[in-house]
Amino acid sequence: MTTHATAAHTTNHAMGVIHILQADLELTGPAAVAAPEAHTVASSLRPDLPLARDGWGNPCLPATSLTGSLRHHAAPHRRRALFGDVYKTPAAKQQDDDGDGGETIAIASPVRVLGTRLTLPDAPPAERRRTAVDRHRAAALATSLHSRELLPPGTELTLWLRIDTTATSSPLVDEVIALLAAWRPRIGGGRTTGYGRAELITVRHRTIDLTTPDGLRHWLTHGGPALVDDHATVVHDRAQTAGGAPDEPHLFGRALHFRIADALHIGSGTRTERPGRRSGPAQILRDHENTPLVPGTTWKGLLRARVEFILRSTGIGDVCASVRDGAPGSCGTCMVCEAFGFSERPRTPADSTPPPDTAGARGHLLFADSPIRDATVRVRNHVALDRVFGGARDEALFAEETAEDGHLTLHIRHDKPVPDLVRAALVLALADLADGTLGIGGATTRGYGTLTAEPATADWLTAQHTPAVNTLRTHTPPAGPAPQETRA
Ligand SMILES: [Zn+2]
Repeated sequence: MTTHATAAHTTNHAMGVIHILQADLELTGPAAVAAPEAHTVASSLRPDLPLARDGWGNPCLPATSLTGSLRHHAAPHRRRALFGDVYKTPAAKQQDDDGDGGETIAIASPVRVLGTRLTLPDAPPAERRRTAVDRHRAAALATSLHSRELLPPGTELTLWLRIDTTATSSPLVDEVIALLAAWRPRIGGGRTTGYGRAELITVRHRTIDLTTPDGLRHWLTHGGPALVDDHATVVHDRAQTAGGAPDEPHLFGRALHFRIADALHIGSGTRTERPGRRSGPAQILRDHENTPLVPGTTWKGLLRARVEFILRSTGIGDVCASVRDGAPGSCGTCMVCEAFGFSERPRTPADSTPPPDTAGARGHLLFADSPIRDATVRVRNHVALDRVFGGARDEALFAEETAEDGHLTLHIRHDKPVPDLVRAALVLALADLADGTLGIGGATTRGYGTLTAEPATADWLTAQHTPAVNTLRTHTPPAGPAPQETRA
């Protein structure tokens, strides 16, 4: 039996010491902090995943978006002691499943979240569209266009924590400060495609000793952010440290460098306005600095589809087809789902079953956005041919922006081991990308989207090719799960 004693039962000490920690963070890339209702309600009038907003319609940050990341950063055996927990004993859960009700154990968190504040830069939240790739038709699935609202890079986030102790110096407070200083904050959804990266700027510590007149007066006459005043100590400063916490390691120990061999069109889902014309050119996706961009979602979708194809066509492993005609979805159990993650199948409004607690599981591979450097952006005109009469269809001229002559860097990182077979298949998928077998972006059938590897990356791919083929060849079809080794 589990003991029900909750050691971390924080009582309000009548005369104790209150520690307020104020952590200031800055988004270094876009973040997707979806409103809770966004996961269950879909409206054709709004983005599928709108930002969480407060009662005045301003974007806000649910405290759980930050504390979830901080909790995850703590060592597993310290999470409950620091951040509390609500759980059921295994025996109690059994009873609950039988309908007898169960006993819920709640451990109060000694680290309490007082609040968060979000300060947006001048740019309004961006909206980004992504499409699922149909491997067979090399076109976007008509039903799979999602859009999500994003907080722009440069957004500042502030988090206030409160810890009550009996003395002005406390190992618990020191532990939380050390935890914050080594934190690699990741906020909101879409982590595996490069969203939500943030850096800690400063941590301030204000000790309020209620046993002293000054402390008591400060506590009683101030509230909210004003509690952290000039008497606070700066216990962490980004400018004083050698950069932030390190990024997750590259899967292959390196970034991969490519250049565009022809032209790339990754649509933003919007068109420029052209007076007097039916519509302007389809615009390419750009980042907050207006640089053309290959989003992490595009890399991930493309490489996943190719990895699935390679593993299935070589008869290795029982891997699912995450993108089927008309119905994106993934099995959630195969090695590709383990490496790339999986999501629940899209819900229809008619679906009356309650939504699942978790929307799939996050993958171990992380794909960042790739800005395209030194690209020439051009507008290309196209004529849609009439298949029956052979000529140009009336008014079927369309135009689209393309990025040409640019360079781009692909960052594939991982935060947990990736199965060897997936790693090997990924090497072959990257080789397909480098030799033009696999195109990226829209209109690959019209000759767009061919990349060429830069010399160092080309040499590396050549060296990796034979070992990768051998890994796939020597693999005997598994009775159980695939081996869980990785070479970082
Ligand atoms: Zn699967």
